[in-house]
Amino acid sequence: MELKHHQITKLSFHTLFSGGLFRFITSPFLDFVYPPICVSCKLALRDGSQKVCEECWNSIERISRDHPLYIETREKLLAAGTVSDLVSVFVFQKEGAFQHIAHALKYDGYESVGRELGERLGMTMKAWDIQADVLIPIPLHKAKRRERGFNQAEQLAIGVALVTGVEVCPDAVRRIRHTQTQTQLSSDERKKNVEDAFEFNPAYSKQIDGKRCILIDDVITTGATIDSCAKELMRAGALRVVAASAALAQ
Ligand SMILES: [Zn+2]
Repeated sequence: MELKHHQITKLSFHTLFSGGLFRFITSPFLDFVYPPICVSCKLALRDGSQKVCEECWNSIERISRDHPLYIETREKLLAAGTVSDLVSVFVFQKEGAFQHIAHALKYDGYESVGRELGERLGMTMKAWDIQADVLIPIPLHKAKRRERGFNQAEQLAIGVALVTGVEVCPDAVRRIRHTQTQTQLSSDERKKNVEDAFEFNPAYSKQIDGKRCILIDDVITTGATIDSCAKELMRAGALRVVAASAALAQ
């Protein structure tokens, strides 16, 4: 497709700089200067439409229903009393391919990596026969979203929607507190850190009331964030909330 100058000038700055078209115009040029490489192993990609090579995807340990980390995380979540089930795809390992992929998504702005991950999560949901009416990405605080330019959990949800056909409702819950990073916190500290961090938006009652919700995050560790957000959905009348993530971490 060739874009004429007047067509480009008609587009708003928002469209240009929100990613899509700007990258569309520049990517053939950038691919020539920098051939597309895998965000994890940095080797050339055969299929330039993707950002991660198959070898790297295959190197990541998979979650199954009888994986010890899955059983442990699911038990913790269900014991908290709000979430009714858990689905995930990968094991998060320090310095592993998943960490490189998550880093490329969150800090290098590769939104399409989020959709690739989401498609894999959607395929797992199908294989595990998890039914849903609506997908809700864990929201970022608006200051964080502005800084990053997008919500990585929303990109995952879009990928899940592409595979399952279930609609995404990204604005049903808002993050009302800017929570500190949780990596150094204990399980109890994490719980306190995310308590009352979310607020349901009543404008979305119809989308949530009586519905089977899937709450999506990139990585689940203790489940404190998912649980806090799930409480808001149950208060809003959700039939059930299933937690879903691209990976589980120890
Ligand atoms: Zn690779």
